[in-house]
Amino acid sequence: MSENVRVRFAPSPTGPLHMGGVRTALYNYLFAKKHNGTFVLRIEDTDQTRYVANAEQYIIDSLEWCNIPFDEGPGKNEKYGPYRQSERKHLYKQYADQLIENGWAYYAFETAEELDTHRKEHEANGKTFIYNWHNRAKGKLVNSLVLSKEEVKKRIENGDKYVVRFKTPQDESLILEDEVRGTIKIDTNTLDDKVLFKSDGMPTYHLANIVDDHLMKISHVIRGEEWLPSLPLHTLLYKAFDWEAPKFAHLSLILKPVGKGKLSKRDGDKLGFPVFPLEYTNEKSGDVSRGYKEDGYFAEAFINMLALLGWNPGTEQELFSLEELTQAFDLARVSKSGAKFSPDKAKWFNQQYLQQKSAEELTELFLPILADIEIEADKAFVEKVVGLVKERANFVNDLTELSNFFFVDPSEYDPKAAKKQWKETTGELMTELVSVIQGIEDFSIENAQTEIKGWITSKEIGFGKVMQPLRLSLVGKLAGPDLFEIMTMIGKETTIKRIQNAIANLS
Ligand code: GLU
Repeated sequence: MSENVRVRFAPSPTGPLHMGGVRTALYNYLFAKKHNGTFVLRIEDTDQTRYVANAEQYIIDSLEWCNIPFDEGPGKNEKYGPYRQSERKHLYKQYADQLIENGWAYYAFETAEELDTHRKEHEANGKTFIYNWHNRAKGKLVNSLVLSKEEVKKRIENGDKYVVRFKTPQDESLILEDEVRGTIKIDTNTLDDKVLFKSDGMPTYHLANIVDDHLMKISHVIRGEEWLPSLPLHTLLYKAFDWEAPKFAHLSLILKPVGKGKLSKRDGDKLGFPVFPLEYTNEKSGDVSRGYKEDGYFAEAFINMLALLGWNPGTEQELFSLEELTQAFDLARVSKSGAKFSPDKAKWFNQQYLQQKSAEELTELFLPILADIEIEADKAFVEKVVGLVKERANFVNDLTELSNFFFVDPSEYDPKAAKKQWKETTGELMTELVSVIQGIEDFSIENAQTEIKGWITSKEIGFGKVMQPLRLSLVGKLAGPDLFEIMTMIGKETTIKRIQNAIANLS
């Protein structure tokens, strides 16, 4: 790409960033990095009624956790700043004025109630009211297309409420280009005259977005599909300003696990998985929503999973480092249709990343968890334990459940397993086993194995008759790695103590 690639992620700080938003940020990031470009963060906070104070920080923290930091944005390389639209308020009016002067926009004086009346009247006749070419200049509506210049001036000086509307051209066929969807044809007569500016001095999303993308020299707009309906207006606005438009790419939705409907902010709590990158506390209600981070996901796994939700590399490869994603990412392989989110697949990704980590790395992550539950253990011992159980773990937290018997004696025994495996004669057998174990001088895996197996063979009984109750005694349930590994790890004394405990409890 010869031009200077500059992309932006432009969230509105109205609450926590949904994983769909993170994916938009990720695709922007990957695209920027791939083309040695710049990834900008712009905070679109013109709608003060929906403003949530902790949302901006949440967005920044999320990008940081995901390891997809922005190059320019609030407080960082403010070359084209400020990057919060609320701090750019003074900029927009001149652009609205420019459009009015050039005949691309007009003042409209209807109050919300008046518009509502028009809507109701139309409905009563089975019609839909659209403020556009069809009725804007017919005299029923009160705007600068029908009022005299003096009247308009008087109203504005009087402090009458107004909005500036875009004067959508009539009878034009618009050809729109989208990097994901290809060519889209639109008849301008189907569009309404969107509000660009309000008399309170605030621009609407449309005006601020276009002006800022232009002033910030954005080359590619990569954003969610929900903005596709705005593309005709945005394209027309570039034309009206006589500015070169960026290229557009609209990403399809992330769908619920059932494959239908958009994965919404509320789905996480309803369906039992996180939809936010980080835990989020609602400032007003105090409600806490789960986050991928707090649920134990590795950021790399989360990002890898998200990258493939709506993009495919064209090969079977599923595991990608951020660097590999950057190399492979291509807007041409972004899917036109929605991508079904699978919580199981998300877990699978985490499991894959966990398996790639060494026992040493996992131990570093596991030690604080052990400390939290007041288990003190030698690091080398923990590392060995982790090496033995990690293959069954999806999350670092799983290691606790998978390995607790290495650290603490079982306090209970799985009742089903006990009923099945602990027979009338088991107590006696186990008592005999204790003396066999007592007799093993050097309690190594090989010795323990030879002695115990030799003893079982000499008794001419099935291995299961001893090994299953032994597992129950040491682990509390019929799970865990090789028993001889466990025995030698916990040591001879603890092994004997646990067998005796089981005899006392289960016989
Ligand atoms: N502020 C819009 C949002 O919240 C940004 C849309 C765009 O990227 O143009 O999603």
